[in-house]
Amino acid sequence: MDLFEYQGKQYFARFGIPVSPGGVAYSVQEAVDQADKAGYPVVVKAQVQVGGRGKAGGIKIAENADQTREQASNILGMDIKGHIVKCLWVEHASDIDKEYYASFTLDRSAKKHLCMVSSKGGVEIEQVALEDPGAIVKFHVDPTVGITIEQARQIVKDANLDAPALEGAADILMKLYECFTKGDCDLVEVNPLILTPEGKVHALDAKVTLDDNAMFRHPEWQEYRKTEELDEREQLAREKGLNYIGLSGEVGIIANGAGLAMSTLDVVNQAGGSAANFLDIGGGANADVMASALEVINSDKAVRSIFVNIFGGITRCEEVANGIIEAIGRVDISSPIVLRLDGTNAKEGREIIASDTSGKVISKPTMLEAARAAVELAKGK
Ligand code: GDP
Ligand code: MG
Repeated sequence: MDLFEYQGKQYFARFGIPVSPGGVAYSVQEAVDQADKAGYPVVVKAQVQVGGRGKAGGIKIAENADQTREQASNILGMDIKGHIVKCLWVEHASDIDKEYYASFTLDRSAKKHLCMVSSKGGVEIEQVALEDPGAIVKFHVDPTVGITIEQARQIVKDANLDAPALEGAADILMKLYECFTKGDCDLVEVNPLILTPEGKVHALDAKVTLDDNAMFRHPEWQEYRKTEELDEREQLAREKGLNYIGLSGEVGIIANGAGLAMSTLDVVNQAGGSAANFLDIGGGANADVMASALEVINSDKAVRSIFVNIFGGITRCEEVANGIIEAIGRVDISSPIVLRLDGTNAKEGREIIASDTSGKVISKPTMLEAARAAVELAKGK
Protein backbone atom coordinates (compact mmCIF):
# COMPACT_ATOMS: atom_id res chain seq x y z
CA MET A 1 0.00 0.00 0.00
CA ASP A 2 1.39 3.39 -1.02
CA LEU A 3 1.09 6.29 1.38
CA PHE A 4 0.53 9.94 0.57
CA GLU A 5 3.43 12.25 1.34
CA TYR A 6 1.77 13.58 4.52
CA GLN A 7 1.17 10.04 5.79
CA GLY A 8 4.74 9.09 4.92
CA LYS A 9 6.03 12.08 6.86
CA GLN A 10 3.91 11.16 9.86
CA TYR A 11 5.34 7.66 9.59
CA PHE A 12 8.88 9.05 9.38
CA ALA A 13 8.27 11.25 12.42
CA ARG A 14 7.42 8.19 14.53
CA PHE A 15 10.93 6.92 13.91
CA GLY A 16 12.54 10.24 14.72
CA ILE A 17 13.24 11.33 11.14
CA PRO A 18 13.05 15.13 11.06
CA VAL A 19 10.32 16.63 8.86
CA SER A 20 8.85 20.14 8.63
CA PRO A 21 5.86 21.06 10.78
CA GLY A 22 2.63 21.18 8.80
CA GLY A 23 -0.94 20.01 8.39
CA VAL A 24 -3.47 18.54 5.98
CA ALA A 25 -6.09 20.65 4.19
CA TYR A 26 -9.07 19.71 2.05
CA SER A 27 -10.22 23.26 1.31
CA VAL A 28 -8.72 26.69 0.70
CA GLN A 29 -9.76 27.89 4.16
CA GLU A 30 -8.22 24.85 5.83
CA ALA A 31 -5.01 25.50 3.89
CA VAL A 32 -4.87 29.07 5.25
CA ASP A 33 -5.53 27.82 8.80
CA GLN A 34 -2.74 25.27 8.48
CA ALA A 35 -0.38 27.88 7.02
CA ASP A 36 -1.10 30.24 9.95
CA LYS A 37 -0.24 27.40 12.32
CA ALA A 38 2.92 26.27 10.49
CA GLY A 39 4.27 29.81 10.18
CA TYR A 40 5.09 31.70 6.96
CA PRO A 41 6.56 31.18 4.45
CA VAL A 42 4.84 27.88 3.72
CA VAL A 43 4.86 25.31 0.93
CA VAL A 44 1.48 24.22 -0.41
CA LYS A 45 1.83 20.66 -1.70
CA ALA A 46 -0.59 18.60 -3.79
CA GLN A 47 -1.19 15.19 -2.22
CA VAL A 48 -1.29 12.71 -5.09
CA GLN A 49 0.49 9.40 -5.34
CA VAL A 50 2.66 10.26 -8.31
CA GLY A 51 6.12 11.74 -8.61
CA GLY A 52 7.07 15.03 -10.25
CA ARG A 53 4.42 17.11 -8.53
CA GLY A 54 6.80 20.04 -8.38
CA LYS A 55 7.32 20.16 -12.15
CA ALA A 56 3.58 19.80 -12.72
CA GLY A 57 2.88 22.94 -10.68
CA GLY A 58 1.54 21.07 -7.67
CA ILE A 59 4.05 22.53 -5.19
CA LYS A 60 4.16 26.28 -4.49
CA ILE A 61 5.61 28.57 -1.87
CA ALA A 62 3.35 31.15 -0.22
CA GLU A 63 4.59 34.10 1.83
CA ASN A 64 1.30 35.04 3.46
CA ALA A 65 -2.38 34.12 3.83
CA ASP A 66 -3.42 35.73 0.52
CA GLN A 67 -0.79 33.82 -1.42
CA THR A 68 -1.74 30.62 0.39
CA ARG A 69 -5.37 31.15 -0.62
CA GLU A 70 -4.34 31.72 -4.22
CA GLN A 71 -2.01 28.71 -4.42
CA ALA A 72 -4.37 26.38 -2.60
CA SER A 73 -7.25 27.25 -4.92
CA ASN A 74 -4.99 26.74 -7.95
CA ILE A 75 -3.74 23.36 -6.77
CA LEU A 76 -6.96 21.85 -5.39
CA GLY A 77 -8.73 20.11 -8.28
CA MET A 78 -5.59 20.15 -10.42
CA ASP A 79 -5.00 17.08 -12.62
CA ILE A 80 -1.47 15.75 -12.11
CA LYS A 81 -0.78 12.88 -14.50
CA GLY A 82 -4.37 11.68 -14.22
CA HIS A 83 -4.60 12.17 -10.44
CA ILE A 84 -7.02 14.84 -9.27
CA VAL A 85 -5.80 16.78 -6.23
CA LYS A 86 -8.32 16.55 -3.39
CA CYS A 87 -5.97 17.09 -0.51
CA LEU A 88 -3.08 19.44 0.33
CA TRP A 89 -0.20 19.30 2.75
CA VAL A 90 0.86 22.74 3.98
CA GLU A 91 4.18 22.94 5.78
CA HIS A 92 6.62 25.55 6.96
CA ALA A 93 8.96 26.24 4.01
CA SER A 94 12.59 25.27 4.37
CA ASP A 95 15.64 27.09 3.07
CA ILE A 96 17.59 24.72 0.90
CA ASP A 97 21.35 24.62 0.44
CA LYS A 98 21.56 21.15 -1.08
CA GLU A 99 19.16 18.43 -2.21
CA TYR A 100 20.12 14.75 -1.78
CA TYR A 101 18.44 11.38 -2.23
CA ALA A 102 18.14 8.42 0.18
CA SER A 103 16.12 5.22 0.08
CA PHE A 104 15.80 1.65 1.31
CA THR A 105 14.11 -1.08 -0.61
CA LEU A 106 14.27 -4.85 -0.96
CA ASP A 107 16.63 -6.28 -3.57
CA ARG A 108 15.00 -9.66 -4.14
CA SER A 109 17.74 -11.07 -6.35
CA ALA A 110 20.41 -10.26 -3.75
CA LYS A 111 18.10 -11.35 -0.89
CA LYS A 112 19.17 -8.21 0.92
CA HIS A 113 17.97 -4.74 1.66
CA LEU A 114 19.27 -2.13 -0.72
CA CYS A 115 20.27 1.33 0.44
CA MET A 116 20.71 4.03 -2.19
CA VAL A 117 22.11 7.47 -1.54
CA SER A 118 22.95 10.23 -3.98
CA SER A 119 24.16 13.80 -3.81
CA LYS A 120 21.92 14.44 -6.81
CA GLY A 121 18.51 14.74 -5.21
CA GLY A 122 15.47 16.76 -6.13
CA VAL A 123 15.26 15.24 -9.60
CA GLU A 124 13.75 11.85 -10.35
CA ILE A 125 16.20 9.14 -9.38
CA GLU A 126 15.46 7.20 -12.57
CA GLN A 127 16.83 10.16 -14.49
CA VAL A 128 20.00 10.23 -12.38
CA ALA A 129 20.37 6.47 -12.91
CA LEU A 130 20.24 7.04 -16.68
CA GLU A 131 22.42 10.12 -16.96
CA ASP A 132 24.91 9.68 -14.16
CA PRO A 133 24.64 6.20 -12.61
CA GLY A 134 27.92 6.71 -10.76
CA ALA A 135 26.24 9.42 -8.70
CA ILE A 136 24.12 6.80 -6.91
CA VAL A 137 25.86 4.85 -4.16
CA LYS A 138 24.33 1.43 -3.58
CA PHE A 139 24.89 -0.58 -0.43
CA HIS A 140 23.41 -3.96 0.45
CA VAL A 141 22.33 -4.55 4.02
CA ASP A 142 22.11 -8.08 5.37
CA PRO A 143 18.64 -8.12 6.98
CA THR A 144 19.82 -10.47 9.74
CA VAL A 145 22.60 -8.08 10.73
CA GLY A 146 21.25 -4.61 9.97
CA ILE A 147 23.23 -1.44 9.35
CA THR A 148 25.82 0.14 11.65
CA ILE A 149 26.45 3.84 12.12
CA GLU A 150 29.96 3.34 10.72
CA GLN A 151 28.48 1.90 7.53
CA ALA A 152 25.95 4.74 7.33
CA ARG A 153 28.77 7.29 7.66
CA GLN A 154 30.74 5.56 4.94
CA ILE A 155 27.75 5.48 2.57
CA VAL A 156 27.04 9.21 2.84
CA LYS A 157 30.75 9.93 2.45
CA ASP A 158 31.00 7.70 -0.63
CA ALA A 159 27.96 9.49 -2.04
CA ASN A 160 29.88 12.79 -1.78
CA LEU A 161 27.41 14.53 0.45
CA ASP A 162 28.77 17.86 1.69
CA ALA A 163 30.80 17.85 4.91
CA PRO A 164 28.23 19.70 7.07
CA ALA A 165 25.57 17.16 6.03
CA LEU A 166 27.49 13.97 6.78
CA GLU A 167 26.63 13.39 10.43
CA GLY A 168 22.96 14.39 10.07
CA ALA A 169 22.52 12.29 6.94
CA ALA A 170 24.13 9.21 8.54
CA ASP A 171 21.83 9.59 11.54
CA ILE A 172 18.78 9.85 9.27
CA LEU A 173 19.93 6.80 7.34
CA MET A 174 19.95 4.78 10.58
CA LYS A 175 16.45 5.97 11.46
CA LEU A 176 15.22 5.41 7.94
CA TYR A 177 16.41 1.80 8.13
CA GLU A 178 14.59 1.38 11.42
CA CYS A 179 11.45 2.80 9.81
CA PHE A 180 11.91 0.48 6.83
CA THR A 181 12.35 -2.70 8.89
CA LYS A 182 10.41 -2.15 12.13
CA GLY A 183 7.79 -0.19 10.22
CA ASP A 184 7.30 -3.11 7.76
CA CYS A 185 7.87 -1.11 4.57
CA ASP A 186 8.62 -2.28 1.05
CA LEU A 187 10.07 1.11 0.21
CA VAL A 188 11.11 4.27 2.02
CA GLU A 189 12.39 7.09 -0.16
CA VAL A 190 13.41 10.64 0.71
CA ASN A 191 13.81 12.88 -2.31
CA PRO A 192 14.92 15.46 -1.56
CA LEU A 193 16.74 14.99 1.68
CA ILE A 194 17.95 18.54 2.27
CA LEU A 195 20.79 20.40 3.91
CA THR A 196 19.69 23.80 5.21
CA PRO A 197 21.95 26.86 5.46
CA GLU A 198 21.97 26.26 9.24
CA GLY A 199 23.55 22.85 8.64
CA LYS A 200 20.44 20.81 9.48
CA VAL A 201 19.51 17.74 7.43
CA HIS A 202 15.88 16.79 7.02
CA ALA A 203 13.29 15.04 4.87
CA LEU A 204 11.44 17.37 2.50
CA ASP A 205 9.48 14.64 0.71
CA ALA A 206 8.41 11.13 1.71
CA LYS A 207 7.54 8.11 -0.35
CA VAL A 208 6.52 5.10 1.70
CA THR A 209 5.13 1.77 0.52
CA LEU A 210 3.88 -0.46 3.31
CA ASP A 211 4.14 -4.22 3.08
CA ASP A 212 0.50 -5.36 2.99
CA ASN A 213 1.50 -8.78 4.36
CA ALA A 214 2.29 -7.11 7.68
CA MET A 215 -1.18 -5.56 7.94
CA PHE A 216 -2.16 -8.00 10.71
CA ARG A 217 0.34 -6.51 13.15
CA HIS A 218 -0.51 -2.90 12.38
CA PRO A 219 -4.10 -2.13 13.36
CA GLU A 220 -3.18 1.56 12.93
CA TRP A 221 -2.78 1.00 9.17
CA GLN A 222 -6.58 0.81 8.83
CA GLU A 223 -6.47 4.59 8.76
CA TYR A 224 -4.38 4.44 5.54
CA ARG A 225 -6.79 1.95 3.99
CA LYS A 226 -9.51 4.59 4.11
CA THR A 227 -7.59 7.01 1.92
CA GLU A 228 -5.97 4.41 -0.33
CA GLU A 229 -6.13 5.23 -4.03
CA LEU A 230 -7.28 2.11 -5.86
CA ASP A 231 -8.45 1.96 -9.42
CA GLU A 232 -12.12 1.04 -9.92
CA ARG A 233 -11.37 -2.59 -10.69
CA GLU A 234 -9.24 -3.00 -7.57
CA GLN A 235 -11.90 -1.29 -5.47
CA LEU A 236 -14.56 -3.69 -6.74
CA ALA A 237 -12.27 -6.69 -6.21
CA ARG A 238 -11.57 -5.64 -2.63
CA GLU A 239 -15.29 -5.27 -1.92
CA LYS A 240 -15.76 -8.80 -3.19
CA GLY A 241 -12.84 -10.12 -1.15
CA LEU A 242 -10.81 -11.19 -4.19
CA ASN A 243 -7.07 -11.45 -4.45
CA TYR A 244 -6.77 -9.14 -7.46
CA ILE A 245 -4.12 -6.85 -8.93
CA GLY A 246 -4.92 -4.70 -11.95
CA LEU A 247 -2.47 -4.75 -14.87
CA SER A 248 -2.53 -3.04 -18.24
CA GLY A 249 -3.02 -5.84 -20.79
CA GLU A 250 -6.09 -7.18 -22.58
CA VAL A 251 -6.39 -10.81 -21.45
CA GLY A 252 -8.37 -11.16 -18.21
CA ILE A 253 -6.97 -13.90 -15.97
CA ILE A 254 -8.68 -16.15 -13.45
CA ALA A 255 -6.68 -18.98 -11.87
CA ASN A 256 -6.88 -21.05 -8.69
CA GLY A 257 -3.75 -20.61 -6.63
CA ALA A 258 -1.24 -17.74 -6.67
CA GLY A 259 1.47 -19.86 -8.31
CA LEU A 260 -0.80 -20.93 -11.13
CA ALA A 261 -2.01 -17.35 -11.57
CA MET A 262 1.61 -16.17 -11.92
CA SER A 263 2.37 -18.93 -14.43
CA THR A 264 -0.74 -17.93 -16.32
CA LEU A 265 0.58 -14.38 -16.70
CA ASP A 266 3.84 -15.83 -18.02
CA VAL A 267 2.21 -18.14 -20.50
CA VAL A 268 -0.02 -15.36 -21.82
CA ASN A 269 3.14 -13.33 -22.37
CA GLN A 270 4.80 -16.29 -24.04
CA ALA A 271 1.84 -16.53 -26.41
CA GLY A 272 2.41 -12.89 -27.40
CA GLY A 273 -0.30 -11.27 -25.32
CA SER A 274 -0.44 -9.39 -22.04
CA ALA A 275 -2.54 -9.88 -18.95
CA ALA A 276 -5.16 -7.40 -17.77
CA ASN A 277 -4.85 -8.58 -14.19
CA PHE A 278 -3.64 -11.09 -11.67
CA LEU A 279 -6.52 -12.91 -9.97
CA ASP A 280 -6.22 -15.90 -7.68
CA ILE A 281 -9.61 -17.31 -6.68
CA GLY A 282 -8.01 -19.75 -4.26
CA GLY A 283 -9.14 -23.28 -3.57
CA GLY A 284 -12.92 -23.21 -3.49
CA ALA A 285 -13.75 -22.07 -7.01
CA ASN A 286 -17.53 -22.17 -6.52
CA ALA A 287 -20.18 -20.26 -8.46
CA ASP A 288 -20.17 -17.27 -6.10
CA VAL A 289 -16.43 -16.74 -6.29
CA MET A 290 -16.40 -17.35 -10.03
CA ALA A 291 -19.27 -14.90 -10.57
CA SER A 292 -17.47 -12.25 -8.50
CA ALA A 293 -14.25 -12.85 -10.43
CA LEU A 294 -16.00 -12.59 -13.80
CA GLU A 295 -17.80 -9.43 -12.70
CA VAL A 296 -14.56 -7.69 -11.76
CA ILE A 297 -12.83 -8.71 -14.98
CA ASN A 298 -15.89 -7.75 -16.99
CA SER A 299 -15.76 -4.24 -15.49
CA ASP A 300 -12.32 -3.76 -17.07
CA LYS A 301 -12.86 -1.98 -20.39
CA ALA A 302 -9.48 -3.10 -21.71
CA VAL A 303 -10.30 -6.81 -21.44
CA ARG A 304 -10.91 -8.54 -24.78
CA SER A 305 -10.78 -12.18 -23.74
CA ILE A 306 -10.80 -14.07 -20.46
CA PHE A 307 -8.53 -17.00 -19.69
CA VAL A 308 -9.82 -19.20 -16.87
CA ASN A 309 -7.02 -21.54 -15.82
CA ILE A 310 -8.04 -24.15 -13.25
CA PHE A 311 -6.06 -27.05 -11.95
CA GLY A 312 -8.16 -29.25 -9.70
CA GLY A 313 -6.34 -30.65 -6.70
CA ILE A 314 -8.57 -30.83 -3.67
CA THR A 315 -10.94 -28.71 -5.72
CA ARG A 316 -12.89 -30.99 -8.05
CA CYS A 317 -13.22 -29.93 -11.68
CA GLU A 318 -16.90 -30.83 -12.02
CA GLU A 319 -17.69 -28.42 -9.18
CA VAL A 320 -15.66 -25.72 -10.87
CA ALA A 321 -17.43 -26.42 -14.17
CA ASN A 322 -20.83 -26.10 -12.52
CA GLY A 323 -19.65 -22.91 -10.87
CA ILE A 324 -18.57 -21.46 -14.20
CA ILE A 325 -21.85 -22.34 -15.92
CA GLU A 326 -23.85 -20.82 -13.08
CA ALA A 327 -21.67 -17.70 -13.00
CA ILE A 328 -22.03 -17.17 -16.75
CA GLY A 329 -25.79 -17.32 -16.27
CA ARG A 330 -25.58 -14.61 -13.61
CA VAL A 331 -23.08 -12.18 -15.13
CA ASP A 332 -23.52 -10.66 -18.57
CA ILE A 333 -20.00 -11.18 -19.89
CA SER A 334 -18.85 -9.21 -22.90
CA SER A 335 -15.66 -11.15 -23.74
CA PRO A 336 -15.17 -14.78 -24.82
CA ILE A 337 -13.90 -17.16 -22.14
CA VAL A 338 -11.16 -19.68 -22.80
CA LEU A 339 -11.09 -22.44 -20.23
CA ARG A 340 -8.37 -24.86 -19.34
CA LEU A 341 -9.63 -27.42 -16.86
CA ASP A 342 -7.30 -30.10 -15.63
CA GLY A 343 -6.65 -32.25 -12.56
CA THR A 344 -9.13 -34.04 -10.29
CA ASN A 345 -12.25 -35.09 -12.22
CA ALA A 346 -11.24 -33.08 -15.29
CA LYS A 347 -13.15 -35.40 -17.61
CA GLU A 348 -16.46 -34.87 -15.80
CA GLY A 349 -15.79 -31.13 -15.67
CA ARG A 350 -15.13 -30.90 -19.39
CA GLU A 351 -18.32 -32.83 -20.15
CA ILE A 352 -20.33 -30.31 -18.17
CA ILE A 353 -18.70 -27.45 -20.08
CA ALA A 354 -19.28 -29.25 -23.41
CA SER A 355 -23.00 -29.47 -22.67
CA ASP A 356 -23.22 -25.71 -22.12
CA THR A 357 -25.14 -23.99 -24.89
CA SER A 358 -24.29 -20.36 -24.17
CA GLY A 359 -21.40 -20.48 -26.62
CA LYS A 360 -19.36 -18.28 -24.30
CA VAL A 361 -16.82 -20.87 -23.23
CA ILE A 362 -14.13 -22.38 -25.40
CA SER A 363 -12.36 -25.36 -23.83
CA LYS A 364 -8.70 -26.11 -24.48
CA PRO A 365 -6.84 -29.16 -23.19
CA THR A 366 -3.56 -27.49 -22.21
CA MET A 367 -2.48 -24.24 -20.62
CA LEU A 368 -0.39 -23.18 -23.62
CA GLU A 369 -3.16 -23.88 -26.13
CA ALA A 370 -5.62 -22.01 -23.97
CA ALA A 371 -3.24 -19.05 -23.68
CA ARG A 372 -2.75 -18.96 -27.45
CA ALA A 373 -6.50 -19.05 -28.04
CA ALA A 374 -7.12 -16.29 -25.48
CA VAL A 375 -4.41 -14.09 -27.00
CA GLU A 376 -5.73 -14.65 -30.53
CA LEU A 377 -9.24 -13.72 -29.45
CA ALA A 378 -7.93 -10.64 -27.65
CA LYS A 379 -6.13 -9.49 -30.77
CA GLY A 380 -8.88 -10.37 -33.20
CA LYS A 381 -11.89 -8.88 -31.49
P1 GDP B 1 7.89 15.96 -6.04
O1 GDP B 1 8.13 16.92 -7.17
O2 GDP B 1 6.59 15.27 -6.19
O3 GDP B 1 9.00 15.01 -5.83
O4 GDP B 1 7.74 16.85 -4.70
P2 GDP B 1 8.85 17.33 -3.62
O5 GDP B 1 8.20 17.34 -2.31
O6 GDP B 1 10.07 16.51 -3.74
O7 GDP B 1 9.15 18.82 -4.03
C1 GDP B 1 9.69 19.14 -5.29
C2 GDP B 1 10.66 20.30 -5.15
O8 GDP B 1 10.01 21.42 -4.62
C3 GDP B 1 11.81 20.00 -4.22
O9 GDP B 1 12.84 19.28 -4.85
C4 GDP B 1 12.23 21.40 -3.82
O10 GDP B 1 13.10 21.91 -4.77
C5 GDP B 1 10.92 22.17 -3.86
N1 GDP B 1 10.45 22.35 -2.47
C6 GDP B 1 9.65 21.53 -1.76
N2 GDP B 1 9.51 21.95 -0.49
C7 GDP B 1 10.25 23.09 -0.38
C8 GDP B 1 10.55 24.01 0.69
O11 GDP B 1 10.13 23.85 1.85
N3 GDP B 1 11.34 25.06 0.39
C9 GDP B 1 11.86 25.25 -0.86
N4 GDP B 1 12.65 26.29 -1.06
N5 GDP B 1 11.62 24.42 -1.88
C10 GDP B 1 10.83 23.35 -1.65
MG1 MG C 1 10.24 14.47 -4.33
